[in-house]
Amino acid sequence: MTENISNDPRFNAIEENYKVIRENIEKSASVSGRSAQDIKFMAVTKTVEPKYINHALSLGIDLIGENKVQEFLSKKDELNLDGVEKHLIGHLQSNKVKKIVGEVDMIESVDSVDIAKEIGKQSVKAGLCTDILLEINIGGEESKTGMDLSLLNDSLYEIAEIDGVKIKGLMAVPPICEDKVKLRSYFEDMYKLYVDFRSKNIDNVSMEILSLGMSSDYTDAIECGSNLVRVGSSLFGMRSYR
Ligand SMILES: *Cc1c(COP(=O)(O)O)cnc(C)c1O
Repeated sequence: MTENISNDPRFNAIEENYKVIRENIEKSASVSGRSAQDIKFMAVTKTVEPKYINHALSLGIDLIGENKVQEFLSKKDELNLDGVEKHLIGHLQSNKVKKIVGEVDMIESVDSVDIAKEIGKQSVKAGLCTDILLEINIGGEESKTGMDLSLLNDSLYEIAEIDGVKIKGLMAVPPICEDKVKLRSYFEDMYKLYVDFRSKNIDNVSMEILSLGMSSDYTDAIECGSNLVRVGSSLFGMRSYR
């Protein structure tokens, strides 16, 4: 099955967007004293049809993120995922854990000890270990998922003891901020936590990934220390829902 690429302007738009984002990543990386290779560029594929995702993959995207277990499972067979890393980035309910373990390379949205225990249990059953990030509610917003900052320290040590999961870093979605200074202060707070835990060399924890930054703020996030940006609408175009 071959799509007629030239008739659909969206393919072209994705290509243009991809180039711009790569350039921006390179600039921001150099502002923070790093190179573009130090920053992972995730294409967030929620609501995006497989043909467009495959086009992004053909351009050199090697990491995708999906929010919903069901959506990922229903699309994955249509995707050219050879050599592509897959992450779950949306809130995970315990009854869905069994379905997603083994299907993705990382679960970024671990926001409680209980969900980590369930991921560990299902991973052990399947004979594997699942890489996870701890999602932090860095703005302390009531409406948001993510672990409360006050619980992070104890939860991290508790989760580090669970068989079948390995903590690889931290993730956050900060509050929507008009004020860039305020926005960057959330990213800076996350960076401090990341560096602090990394320096503690906790058993079964390898602080390698700080997942921060989306379409509207990925350059700020990189400048503040992020090494994984999750970009959806700036790459694929606007979604009808989030
Ligand atoms: C949707 C989503 C993104 C991407 O959002 P854009 O603003 O479209 O780039 C990133 N991270 C998470 C957790 C998301 O749910």
